[in-house]
Parts: sequence; C-alpha cells; structure tokens
Amino acid sequence: MSLDPLQIRPDFPILQRKSASGAPLAFLDNAASAQRPQVVIDAISDCYQRYYANVHRGIHTLSEESTAAYEAARETTREFIGARSHAEVVFAAGTTAAINTVAHSWGGENLAADDVVLLTIAEHHANIVPWHQLAERIGCRVEFLPLRDDFTIDDAVVQAKLDSLRPKLFSFASCSNVLGTNFPVAKWTGMAHAAGATVLVDAAQGAPHQAIDVQHWDADFVVFSGHKLCGPTGIGVLYGKETLLDAMPPFLGGGGMIDRVTTTGFSPTGLPEKFEAGTPPITEAIGLAAAMRYLQSVGMDNIQAHEHVLCQAADAALREIEGVEILGPTPDRKAGIVSFTVDGIHAHDIAQWLDTRGVAVRAGHHCAMPLHESVGKTASTRASFYLYNTLEEVDRLVQAVKEARDKFMRGGRRRRRRSPSP
Ligand code: PMP
Repeated sequence: MSLDPLQIRPDFPILQRKSASGAPLAFLDNAASAQRPQVVIDAISDCYQRYYANVHRGIHTLSEESTAAYEAARETTREFIGARSHAEVVFAAGTTAAINTVAHSWGGENLAADDVVLLTIAEHHANIVPWHQLAERIGCRVEFLPLRDDFTIDDAVVQAKLDSLRPKLFSFASCSNVLGTNFPVAKWTGMAHAAGATVLVDAAQGAPHQAIDVQHWDADFVVFSGHKLCGPTGIGVLYGKETLLDAMPPFLGGGGMIDRVTTTGFSPTGLPEKFEAGTPPITEAIGLAAAMRYLQSVGMDNIQAHEHVLCQAADAALREIEGVEILGPTPDRKAGIVSFTVDGIHAHDIAQWLDTRGVAVRAGHHCAMPLHESVGKTASTRASFYLYNTLEEVDRLVQAVKEARDKFMRGGRRRRRRSPSP
C-alpha cells in the first residue's frame, strides 16, 4: 500500500469510537460525508477561540485577522485546484448551492427555450433538479447520456449527442457517487468545447480523492463540497473561469456583494465577492483550508492509490458472493466506491445488518433515482472508502455481507415454510 492507514487513523478522533452494537467502527460511508482529522477541528476552534469576527468590513484587529485567514483559505483552495486567480474561487455552501448558482445565474442569462442541457444518467440529483427547475422556468430541455452495460459511457455516444443535440451546456460528474465510475473529464470537456458547449464538472466525488487541476480539465465550472474532503459542512467551492463569472449576474443579493446601493437599484462588486452575499462561511473556509493542507501532506496520489487497493479487494470479494451484483465497472475504471445489491434482500436490510457488525454503509437510491431506474433497481447498498480505511475493514464488510445473505436467505426459507397456504 502506498500509505499506511494505521498511521493515519490516530489523526481522526472519531475513528476510535465503537458503533452502537459495541463493535469497532468501520466507517465506509465516505461518499456521503467524510470524517475530520484533529487538525481541522483545531483550526476551527482556534478561530473561534482567538480571532473570530465578521470579515471584510471591520476596521478592528479581530476582523482584520479573520479576513486574512478567510482570504488565505481562498488562496489554499486556489492552489489545491490549480485555478489561475483568487477571483475564480467562490465559496458556496456546497456542491448543491454551487450548481444552483450556475443554473440561476449562468443558465438564466445564457439559455433560452429549446436550448439543451446535456447530463449523464449517472448524475446526483444536485446536478439534475436545478436543470429541471430551469427548464420549468425558461423552457430549455434536459437530455441524458445513457450507460453502457459495463456502467461506463461510450465516448462515441457522447460525441453523437453533442453533434445531434448541440447542447449549450454539458454538465457531468467527474465520478459517479453510486457506480464510482471515473469519467474522462479532460477528453469530454475538449469534445464539448469543440461542439460549442459550456462545461460544468461536478467534482463532489472527485476532488476529495484525486489531485485535480482545473487548467488541465479546462472545464468552465468545477464544483465540490468541503465535507467530503475532511472539511466542515456548510462550505463548498464554485470554480469558474474568470471571464464567465465576470459576465454572470449575481445570484443571491445582500450585503457583501455590492459596490453601491441606492433607493432605486444596486451595482454589484467584483469577483469573487459578487457571488458571496451575506456573512460567508468564515470558520468553514478556514477548516476547509486545513483539510486541504492535511490531504496534501498525505499526498492526493497516495490517497487515490490506497483507495484503489481497497476498492479492488472489496469488488473482487463481493463479486464472489452468490447473489451479489456490483453496480459499477471494474476497479480500473472507478474510484473507491462499491455499490451492490444482494438478490432477494433489500438494501436497507443489508445496511442494518452491517451496522450490527460495526460496518457503516449507506443504502437507498443515493440521490440518483434516474440512474437506479436505468439499471432496473430501486436501491443499492454502497461502501465507500477513504484514506483511513483498511483491508481489515474490507474483510469485515465482506464477511458481514456473507452473514447477512446466509441469515436472510435462511430466514426467508423458514418464513416461506411457515406461512399458511392460501
Ligand atoms: N454531486 C455528487 C456527485 C455527490 O456525491 C453529492 C453528495 N452526495 C452532491 C453532488 C451533493 O453534495 P452536497 O450535498 O454536499 O451539496
């Protein structure tokens, strides 16, 4: 393994606790939200204890210090994603808020009735519903790219849809939060640009797990959340190319985003504050920067390689279990996410059984109903890995799934035998 999770685990206080069943906690629900290392918790409490005040407008020591820390967090974020300028880094409440900002502000300005927004069928609802809402408002159309049987998307189909639909926007996840499929971001962005489309990349499942470089991706917008990369909740990033953000009207109005307000109107201020109305997420930004520094100290490439080892082990062992179906491609095409169904057992029952063994996973549609529908499922169970997970935890997951299958199948047969004949 390229990193030793046993060295990493003491950094995360929560990993020492036990689950309700008394079993040690195997936290495999990282795609929903990750845990925080002590350095992030310390950065947040240090701000509250020593220098917290509202930012930007105060002419006093604490405000100057918190403003400096908030803007330093923006610089850390700029560097983390390789943006050209701090003007391109807007702090938003999360991925959902960032996509809604683009849909309202860029979409409202640049799309008209019958224009097409192209998505993949693998999108999280956060990258579907804002476009449906925009369609309801202005009459644009939302179209979807289908999956192949191997849970990837054919580049030729992407090209054909770009050519036939001529979408104004192509918006897709760099990595599916259910399938784990890594989509070829730079390649698709190049194809979309050649077809005249603007590109938004939902990197909610990408930015926490691999080094990202927005210059290399060349996407027009890249969005992600802090809480999935060991940072606080309530903060995320909206990266946009400066020319695009500059031309967009502000989304939310209020304090902080104006140059001047009169009784008859207002003029917005410049980037990035134009998109940060109201008191921004100050301690959250400071915590996010601490998380980014922590992940970089471990090394994003090391994290990616470690998750790949865990993913390979889980994927291979789960595929061996009779009745288990993996929803996702082979590990070489995916990140550290393994979703699966077990024939005859509901995903929630599996997850509940795993919890009795201290294994925390998520079950349901994972905010991806169109995806589940397209593969003929209503729900799946999802194990998702991060830097602190171990092969021993993968073993516990696999053993617990085997036990669940044995228990429920036996119970099912007993119940069937006992049920009265009609
Ligand atoms: N997109 C993807 C791919 C996600 O996995 C998630 C979170 N599950 C979101 C968007 C939404 O993120 P948030 O809830 O932090 O806004």
